[in-house]
Amino acid sequence: MKQHYDIAIVGGAMAGATLALALSARGDREGRPWRIAVIEAHTPESQRHPGYDTRAIALAEGSVRRLKTLGCWPAIQAHAAPIERIEVSDQGHFGGLAMASQEYGVEALGQVVELERVGPALWQQLAKSGVDCFSPDQLAELTQQNDQVALTLTSGQQLTARLVVGADGTHSKVREKLGLGLRRTPYPQTALIANLSARDHGATAYERFTAEGPLALLPMCDDRYSLVWVQSPEQAQRRLQLSEAQFLAELQQAFGYRLGRFTQVGQRASYPLALCKAERVIHHRCVLVGNAAQTVHPIAGQGFNLGLRDVEVLAHLLSQADDPGAFSLLAQYEQQRRNDRGRTTGWTDLLVRLFSNSSRVMALGRNSGLLAMSLLPGLKRQLAGQAMGWRGGAPRHPQQK
Ligand SMILES: Cc1cc2nc3c(=O)[nH]c(=O)nc-3n(C[C@H](O)[C@H](O)[C@H](O)COP(=O)(O)OP(=O)(O)OC[C@H]3O[C@@H](n4cnc5c(N)ncnc54)[C@H](O)[C@@H]3O)c2cc1C
Repeated sequence: MKQHYDIAIVGGAMAGATLALALSARGDREGRPWRIAVIEAHTPESQRHPGYDTRAIALAEGSVRRLKTLGCWPAIQAHAAPIERIEVSDQGHFGGLAMASQEYGVEALGQVVELERVGPALWQQLAKSGVDCFSPDQLAELTQQNDQVALTLTSGQQLTARLVVGADGTHSKVREKLGLGLRRTPYPQTALIANLSARDHGATAYERFTAEGPLALLPMCDDRYSLVWVQSPEQAQRRLQLSEAQFLAELQQAFGYRLGRFTQVGQRASYPLALCKAERVIHHRCVLVGNAAQTVHPIAGQGFNLGLRDVEVLAHLLSQADDPGAFSLLAQYEQQRRNDRGRTTGWTDLLVRLFSNSSRVMALGRNSGLLAMSLLPGLKRQLAGQAMGWRGGAPRHPQQK
């Protein structure tokens, strides 16, 4: 039987689930609840879930505030660990930079969340929210009509919706069906991730630039660290096969001993890296959010922080709407997201190129940059502001002159 919705969200990972929760809490301009469907290929506990895997991601302080406003933080909070300090260094060079939450008058610079734990928690909240979830099921066909979009799922289920949101990730079927162009720039790099045990980490995150690529360690609950190690696809392939002891020895060599000796590493996984940017993010009664709209390199931990700003803007526009698929609303969404998408994809790409280059001139430049930032609070505040997801830099601490 055909079911009708106001809004159908394809993809129920971080972008899709947070959007569904935000919309279910707000309703339309008159406060009437939207009829919402979420279509997701995997159940939240699935070991093969591409959106809720063993990755841990860093949420900027600004993103945590956004998630609180959108009503999603209660589900996430229990699986979050604070970052109170960030140390940035460049292997074999003199520059270095440290930022602490007290300098900026905040309790934490950000939070690290474990996606495989957050996913089921978000879906438990979704189950209580009145949203209809079609999972496991997938979008197979999409047909735009004058005042609605007809969707056919692989199960044969048919739906119509006044607005379809593509929150279905980098290889978005919604984007493909709409024929929206994608600019894709592959990086000759792969991200290798794993969780590690370490001694008491003091809520410090580390980012170290090595000749191979950046290596980040994010503090998690129970004195564990989440490793993101960017390297050539060949090295990543080789390191996936190493024994635990050999892997830890190579990691130790790249990172050093500032956290003592690493003793245990969990399951390793790898992600090929590319910058992907949809040329348009709207089409008749359809819109893209999150990785479906743009996918960035994890070097600066911006991916979901940026996708969440898509979610925030769309949720806000929809809370003032009568017709969720009205062209004027979608045009406003595209226009309001243009600068942030351009700026964030641009500076992330610049960082990748700057820190992946082993030339002496580039090394000198980036080290002078790190050194300058550690000595010049104004410059560092700009960087901290970006890292924390604030627009226009971080606010001054009251005691700072
Ligand atoms: C190694 C690594 C480290 C990262 N670190 C950070 C970080 O520190 N901070 C940060 O902010 N971001 C980080 N990111 C990026 C972040 O993980 C992503 O931006 C975010 O998880 C994307 O969420 P999404 O919901 O937009 O897309 P996805 O997670 O890709 O979800 C898409 C969903 O759509 C579903 N789907 C796809 N096709 C269909 C279909 N036809 N029908 C139904 N369902 C469908 C999929 O099953 C999936 O659940 C990192 C990424 C990587 C790879």
